[in-house]
Amino acid sequence: PRPAGLCGGGTPAARARPLAAQGRGEAAAAAGAAEGREAGNGGGYDGKCVFCRIARQEEPGTALLPCEYEDLVCFRDIRPNAPHHYLVVPVEHMGNCKTLKTEHIPVVKRMMEVGKAVLQKNNFSDLSNIRMGFHWPPFCSISHLHLHVLAPASQLGFLSRLVYRINSYWFITVSVIKYNGKSLNVYAY
Ligand SMILES: [Zn+2]
Ligand SMILES: [Zn+2]
Repeated sequence: PRPAGLCGGGTPAARARPLAAQGRGEAAAAAGAAEGREAGNGGGYDGKCVFCRIARQEEPGTALLPCEYEDLVCFRDIRPNAPHHYLVVPVEHMGNCKTLKTEHIPVVKRMMEVGKAVLQKNNFSDLSNIRMGFHWPPFCSISHLHLHVLAPASQLGFLSRLVYRINSYWFITVSVIKYNGKSLNVYAY
């Protein structure tokens, strides 16, 4: 079974969005494809993806927090598993952490920068007591790359501790990023 409380961007209502809204999203995705960007794969906009909609401020329930990079957004996890629980997401729809390649190293590093900055802006400065990482597919319902930023790590609840365990099968923390020739692997140390 999938662990509870994963990837809580948006609202439950938004996840079960009715067809009318999806139709709008598909039209937008088609427009994106017409511009030469393939939605759902190599970037662009996927109207069925809640993180794409949040990044474009189309989800009134989720406010964007200040973020120093225009191609990234940051917001609070709607179902926080720690006193501080933020998500850092690229505006462009890009796949999950399994499909990262070397060219994504800079963006992953900037996502981590944003994660640290949002903690500091929210008066959490003990960077040794934080947890940042990706959910390893398929243990995540949203296939839009997103970095979980949790703090304090010492206050994660029991279930959260299981779900966000360092380098568990579900959750890959980012401290060291290595490239094995085919795909980007993200390791903690
Ligand atoms: Zn996740
Ligand atoms: Zn998306």
